[in-house]
Amino acid sequence: RLVNAAGLGAVALAGSITGFDRRFLPGLRYAKGNYFSVATRAPFSHLIYPVPEPGGLGVHLTLDLGGTARFGPDVEWTDALDYRVDPARGTRFYAEIRKYWPELADGSLQPAYSGIRPKLSGPGEANSDFVIQDTGTHGIAGLVNLFGIESPGLTSSLAIAEHVTRILLEHR
Ligand SMILES: Cc1cc2nc3c(=O)[nH]c(=O)nc-3n(C[C@H](O)[C@H](O)[C@H](O)COP(=O)(O)OP(=O)(O)OC[C@H]3O[C@@H](n4cnc5c(N)ncnc54)[C@H](O)[C@@H]3O)c2cc1C
Repeated sequence: RLVNAAGLGAVALAGSITGFDRRFLPGLRYAKGNYFSVATRAPFSHLIYPVPEPGGLGVHLTLDLGGTARFGPDVEWTDALDYRVDPARGTRFYAEIRKYWPELADGSLQPAYSGIRPKLSGPGEANSDFVIQDTGTHGIAGLVNLFGIESPGLTSSLAIAEHVTRILLEHR
């Protein structure tokens, strides 16, 4: 049995399996999400989620266990797995954050980190759901492919795991 849960590498990995019909490989797009942080303490005690934007959930506020505020992620379509955060992208963050924190001072945002979403739809296209392929799709016994596991993949991880377990038990 092989559960292909290789994230950004899942499509390439499936494509490298001898006998796997490439018709079943979805197109993969990279949607990078950049985060910025503030050195000072933000005046919030809970997360803030604005209305979602195309390709992502919008520049929301997250707080780590130490109370440090991070803002993000944005949506930067890219062809490269480059995790550096371009400080220039902070400009747009000020306007977004000031919608719910008008007192945010100029120059207070600093690049934090980034992540890259393995998306099955591109800019301007309707958002795709996760794709979970089993024998019924590709005809290879014991192979389960997980494609496009992006947000909310972490939140859904236990449900996805149960689903994959059921598939493997049914095809024993
Ligand atoms: C910016 C951003 C914000 C997000 N926000 C949220 C959120 O708020 N809520 C939420 O639920 N989810 C969120 N997600 C999505 C969540 O992070 C992912 O869905 C989840 O991490 C995917 O887990 P995974 O195990 O499928 O893949 P990954 O965590 O990417 O793990 C895949 C693993 O496979 C390995 N791998 C790749 N290729 C190979 C290979 N050929 N051989 C062996 N190993 C290989 C990789 O090294 C990696 O360790 C966010 C993602 C991003 C990028």
